[in-house]
Amino acid sequence: MALKYITDESFQALAKDKKVLARFDFNVPMDKNDPTKIADSTRIDEAIETIQAILDLKPKKLILMSHFGRPKGKVDPQYSLEPVAKYLAEKLGQEVLLTETALDRGIKTLLGLNESKIVMLQNLRFHPEEEANDRDFARTLSTYGDVFVFDAFGAAHRKHASTYEINAFFKNKAFGGLLLKREVESLDKVVNDPVKPFVAIVGGAKVSDKIKIIDMLLVSVDKLLIGGAMAYPFLKAQGHTIGTSLCTDEDVSLARRILNTPSKGKIVLPSDHIVSSTFGGLPSEINQVNIPDGQMGLDIGPSTLQNFNDYLASAKTVLWNGPMGLFENPSFAKGTLGIAKTLSTLKAFTLVGGGDSVSAVKMSGLSDKMSHISTGGGASLEYIENGTLPGIQALKFGID
Ligand code: AMP
Repeated sequence: MALKYITDESFQALAKDKKVLARFDFNVPMDKNDPTKIADSTRIDEAIETIQAILDLKPKKLILMSHFGRPKGKVDPQYSLEPVAKYLAEKLGQEVLLTETALDRGIKTLLGLNESKIVMLQNLRFHPEEEANDRDFARTLSTYGDVFVFDAFGAAHRKHASTYEINAFFKNKAFGGLLLKREVESLDKVVNDPVKPFVAIVGGAKVSDKIKIIDMLLVSVDKLLIGGAMAYPFLKAQGHTIGTSLCTDEDVSLARRILNTPSKGKIVLPSDHIVSSTFGGLPSEINQVNIPDGQMGLDIGPSTLQNFNDYLASAKTVLWNGPMGLFENPSFAKGTLGIAKTLSTLKAFTLVGGGDSVSAVKMSGLSDKMSHISTGGGASLEYIENGTLPGIQALKFGID
């Protein structure tokens, strides 16, 4: 059974003059100094195409749903969706009416009125039933719409009431949105039969978080380039010194296990580093693989970057997850920005997935040069690991 999207003719017939209930991922980061200001609106911007496509079909109402932050099942004004509703209203040039809660008794009345075409339910996570995947909560949400659209790729790895259980109430009336379509089609290019040579770059901080993806990638990649703090457990497992670089014993044993498999030849590790004695200290270059006592590796060195670039030059498919160093500090950002620059010049399918590498690509100003930038960090990793996600399975096959 194929996943049906809102581009399907059957959706067009179901949406006209009807109430369309749509789940998005509007969980955007807010400005640390001004909690009413959205720091990065990408996730909302990426949803607008779907919202517009639904509105073009002239539904009676469009009811938007999302979670926002972690209010832990309680009403907490700091996690109100108000800034999102305001932003969307401005972008769409029409009113977006925000309800008081997702279980507001007035919602049904509101949906019967001719006022505002777009209604946004307040943060679903104000209700503990959302994360508990509660059937009754999902049933109540489902009564707000005649047809269901799921476009919350970033939340599709969660089995929650609005991402999973809700599908029980929309048999043959559940459709994927355009962002979900883009995400799935792009990730499938990496998961199913990637065009070779396939090179993956994995960085970031913790081996244990990414162990499953490394195992899975080692089956299909031609080369796996490891940078960032991810590299030190591997270097230590090979017997090199790593000074005070980030590394746990657990990560070293995981790295040792991977280095004992036949795929070890596919792994490429750093051969030089940018180090410092503290996170905020001055950078210095170490032209060798061993890091002296008292120094920590905070970025890949220039020879490593060159070596990684050489492997990338002939790649036809590239997956990048995780920065090559402490890129938030400009002294240690060269490796990460260098990889972004290289990817921007390749004639390959380039997919960037995972929160921090996405921020790094944005920082580099080269976002539009990548083939696809995934909006879902955890979701894209889990998709690559498992080839699908619970929210997508439920949408595709329905649930009893
Ligand atoms: P992750 O969420 O696992 O992708 O990790 C991303 C974080 O790892 C970012 O905040 C980076 O600054 C950090 N990071 C990457 N490399 C290093 C390093 N060599 N030392 C310390 N932190 C690092």
